[in-house]
Amino acid sequence: MRRSFNTVCSSINDFMEMYNTLLYYCYSTIANAEQFAADHLKFCKSLGLTGRIIVADEGLNGTVSGSVEACKTYMDTVHADERFAKTEFKIDEVDTPSFVKMHVRYKSEIVHSGLRDPNVIDPKQKTGKHLEPKEFLAMKDRDDVVVLDVRSNYEHSLGKFKNAVTLDIDNFRDFPDMINQLAQYKDKKILTYCTGGIKCEKASALLLHEGFPEVYQLHGGIIKYGKEAGGEDFEGKCYVFDNRLSVDVNSVNPVVISTCLNCGKTTPKMINCANPECNEHFTQCDECGTAMDGCCSDACKEHPRKRVYDGTGYYVKVPQPVNVSKNKLQPIV
Ligand SMILES: [Zn+2]
Ligand SMILES: [Zn+2]
Repeated sequence: MRRSFNTVCSSINDFMEMYNTLLYYCYSTIANAEQFAADHLKFCKSLGLTGRIIVADEGLNGTVSGSVEACKTYMDTVHADERFAKTEFKIDEVDTPSFVKMHVRYKSEIVHSGLRDPNVIDPKQKTGKHLEPKEFLAMKDRDDVVVLDVRSNYEHSLGKFKNAVTLDIDNFRDFPDMINQLAQYKDKKILTYCTGGIKCEKASALLLHEGFPEVYQLHGGIIKYGKEAGGEDFEGKCYVFDNRLSVDVNSVNPVVISTCLNCGKTTPKMINCANPECNEHFTQCDECGTAMDGCCSDACKEHPRKRVYDGTGYYVKVPQPVNVSKNKLQPIV
């Protein structure tokens, strides 16, 4: 009797287990950053975390996922290091970890901007004035303000602030080439925003360097704005760089702005193309998903390695044994 009682309890606990997904960055000089990255990977693995962290001489940029307890230990440890004491973590509650593997990689920048010369752009020295979500909300509709989305096409096509200026770029490293197009706004206050705030540190620094007199940035990005300002006037969903693909932001006045790639109908559903060699992120309605087997094009639909479309458009690549029981991952077929 007792044994079966314990079994019931443990399965309830399994069901109740909650996970966190953390998003953060910190611009802070790291000496011997390559070694730091190797040590940090070991540390993350020891906590059973999954995720992706970039380490550079200029700081840390990460999104990690794991049990509530492991995430707390992780945050406490990062904060205990005086270089990262001011790091702000955006914390999401999730039912399953948002990644399957743990990567910590050393790179030349924590977000690839193509602006590697710290003598020109160094957010630790000079960057746009930080606005808290409610300050941003209060300022954004003024006549002397332009709200600038510094993210890429695949991100702002899924969701953006109402009336924001967007840029036709496929990667943030193309942002510097777009500065000339923004010259028409030089007499306005520029309010930049991105997903979690990290790109704005450099984008706003570059705008200041290029002679824009008043540049502000949304501190903590769209994610923090969703938590602290209800996401008001953010239209559509926010693209995120993990298995969730997108998250809801706006609980005040939400609308859907993205459209199905195939038929043009309004849909919030973002999927990966079922052709693993394409794997394109795009929005597709349920009807077209069924008709196209979750593919972006007829060519992908005919691809011999096409994956089985189960209606989600979400494909787990390499499930790690450590997560399989908790994560209830479907085996790859
Ligand atoms: Zn469609
Ligand atoms: Zn495709």
